[in-house]
Amino acid sequence: MAEKLVVEPDLGFIKEMAGLGGDTLKKCFQCATCSVVCPIAPETQPFPRKEMIAASWGLKDKLVGDMDIWLCHNCGDCTTMCPRGAKPGEVLGAIRSYAIQDYAAPKAVGKMVNNPKMLPILFLIPSILFLIVGFAYKAAGINWLNFSPGGEIIAHYKFFNTWLVDSIFVPTMLGMNLILAYGVYRFICDIHKNALAAGKVEDKPFDPKDLVTSLINVVVRIMRHDKFSECGENKERATAHMMVLFGFIGLFVVTGTVFIGLYVFGVHGPLSQINPLKWIGNIGGLMLIIGSLLMVKNRLTKTDQTSSYQDWYLIGMVFMLGFSGMLTQMTRLAGGEGVTYVVYFIHLQLVWMFIAFLPYTKIAHLVYRTAAMVYADYMGRGFK
Ligand code: SF4
Ligand code: SF4
Repeated sequence: MAEKLVVEPDLGFIKEMAGLGGDTLKKCFQCATCSVVCPIAPETQPFPRKEMIAASWGLKDKLVGDMDIWLCHNCGDCTTMCPRGAKPGEVLGAIRSYAIQDYAAPKAVGKMVNNPKMLPILFLIPSILFLIVGFAYKAAGINWLNFSPGGEIIAHYKFFNTWLVDSIFVPTMLGMNLILAYGVYRFICDIHKNALAAGKVEDKPFDPKDLVTSLINVVVRIMRHDKFSECGENKERATAHMMVLFGFIGLFVVTGTVFIGLYVFGVHGPLSQINPLKWIGNIGGLMLIIGSLLMVKNRLTKTDQTSSYQDWYLIGMVFMLGFSGMLTQMTRLAGGEGVTYVVYFIHLQLVWMFIAFLPYTKIAHLVYRTAAMVYADYMGRGFK
C-alpha cells in the first residue's frame, strides 16, 4: 500500500511571508520557468520552483532548513521571467528573512527588530544604555559626557572615554557572536538533516581538510562576487554590494588594529590624518555611503522587484553608519567641539544597534549564506 503523505501547512508562516515581501507566491502555477532560467541552480533538484510549492503549502520547517534558499543570490532573473508575476526571487528573499528570525534567539527580540513600528524604541535602547553608563561614571566623579572638556586638541575620548565605549561594546560583541553561533549551529544541523532526507547529498565521514578547502573556495567566490556577475537582470548590484562588503572589511581591520594599539601598546587617538589606518577608515566610510546610495538607486529603478522593510533597514543602517562616521571626523577637524561630541554620540549608538541587532536582521545573511555555501561545496551539492 502506498505511504500516506500528511502535509501540515503553517498558515501563520504564509501570512508572515506576505509581510516580508513574499505576498506574490500564491500566483505561482508551477510552470518551472524559474528553475530553468536560474543561472545558479544545480541540475539535481533545482530551485526555486520547489521552494515556491513548499511556500504555498506553508511548509515552514522544510523551507527554513533548506540550504538552497541561501545559494540563491537574488539576481532577479527568475522574477523577471516568471509568466505569472509570482516573483520567486522575492519569495526566496522573504523565506531567508524568516529563517534569520527563526534561528536567532530570543525570538521576541527578532520580532521587535523587524517591526517598523518599533524602530524608535530600537534607537532609544542604546541612547538609554549609553546615558545610564555615562552618568553612572559621572556620578562617581569621572568627568565624562562633558561637552566642553577643553585642552589643546578636540578628542572624542575626552567626551566619552574609549574604555567606557569598549566596556559597552565588548560584551555586546560577545553576546551577538554567541547568538549568531547558536543560530548557525542549529541551521547547519537542519540543512544537513533535510538535505540527507531529500537525497540532495550523501552522508560522508567528517573530513576537516575538505572543509577548510570548501571554506577557502567559498570565501574566494564571495570576495570575487562571482555569482553576481552571472546575473542577467541585476548585474549592477555587484558594484554596490562589493563597496559595502569591502567598506566593512576595511573598517573592521581599522577598529581591530586601533583596539590592539590601545590596549597592547598604549597608543591613544586621534590618529594623524596621514596615518594609513586613517586612510583605510576614510575610504571604508566613503564606500559605505556610496555603496548604500547605489543600492537605493538599484532598488528604486527595479520596479518589478519588491523591497521589504528588512531591505531598507539594512541599506539605511549602512548609510547612517558611513555618514555619521564621516561627519564625526569632519566636525572634529572643523573645530566644532560640542557638535562633534553630539555627532560622535549618535554614531556610537548606530554602531551599537548595528552590532547588537545583527543576528536578527538581513545583515546576518552574510553568515548564513557563507555557512550554506560552505556546506553545499563540502557535500558536493553541485550549485553552479
Ligand atoms: S514562480 Fe513563476 S516561473 Fe516559477 S514555477 Fe511559479 S509561475 Fe512558474
Ligand atoms: S533570484 Fe536569481 S539566483 Fe535566485 S533563484 Fe532566482 S534566478 Fe536563481
